[in-house]
Amino acid sequence: MPVDDCVFCAIVRGEAEASVPYADDQVMAIMDIAPVTPGHLLVIPRVHAVGLDDLDEDTGAHIWRIGHRMARALRRSGLRCDGVNVFLADGAAAFQEIFHVHLHVFPRYEGDGFRIEATWATRERSLLDREAQAIRAVLPG
Ligand SMILES: [Zn+2]
Repeated sequence: MPVDDCVFCAIVRGEAEASVPYADDQVMAIMDIAPVTPGHLLVIPRVHAVGLDDLDEDTGAHIWRIGHRMARALRRSGLRCDGVNVFLADGAAAFQEIFHVHLHVFPRYEGDGFRIEATWATRERSLLDREAQAIRAVLPG
């Protein structure tokens, strides 16, 4: 169900303004009001879910399907688009700012200013195996 103080729910209800390149009965694509690059859009579910943990997998799969479709459309749109990033921030620690799950899809090109900074370092196999086991242990059967 939509949530009263959620801006994306307000857009879904038609009570807040949005520029909408795509909509169906499960999701909407809306243009990001503060884009990384022109063409930056968000795919949002019509149902309110804070993040991936409370989003059903069928809706998640549909969000991805439409994100994929939007990425193709961006490349054909005439907007500057030499590449595409698809990005989802799940949780404040991952830089989620609007707590209604959304998939970012945005054009990339040389000099666009977008960066991801990290300390990339190869990890020992024994640690990778232990982490894989921890994840496997909690997957649904
Ligand atoms: Zn919402």
